[in-house]
Amino acid sequence: MHWMDTDASGGVVPQTLTEAFGPHQVVMRGTWESRPRCIALDAEIGTFSRCTIHAVRPQACRDVQASWESGEASPQCDRARAAHGLPALRASDWIPAIAMVLVDAHAAALPAGDAAPVP
Ligand code: SF4
Repeated sequence: MHWMDTDASGGVVPQTLTEAFGPHQVVMRGTWESRPRCIALDAEIGTFSRCTIHAVRPQACRDVQASWESGEASPQCDRARAAHGLPALRASDWIPAIAMVLVDAHAAALPAGDAAPVP
């Protein structure tokens, strides 16, 4: 990314999490190592993962969606998962997450102490 994308220069990406990559470019720290791991990644691969700067992540990260997150496969996501020995995501992998949101919304809509089973 260009150095002007960092918060030190009017952008949003935390500059302290980046390092110089040429005269005008920066990269997320850790992503240019022989075993790349972004400094902003909080993960135990295969168990959980999250970007700790999700709201202000670089555009390059925004451009890669998880497979089927928006209804279509993402070859780049599939390759990244394969590199870590993980299977490609399927559309059905997103259904449990949607169901959990609906269960939470159902519970939140009930008056306090009025628990009801979710059909
Ligand atoms: S999405 Fe977040 S954790 Fe992943 S590479 Fe980008 S900044 Fe790093």
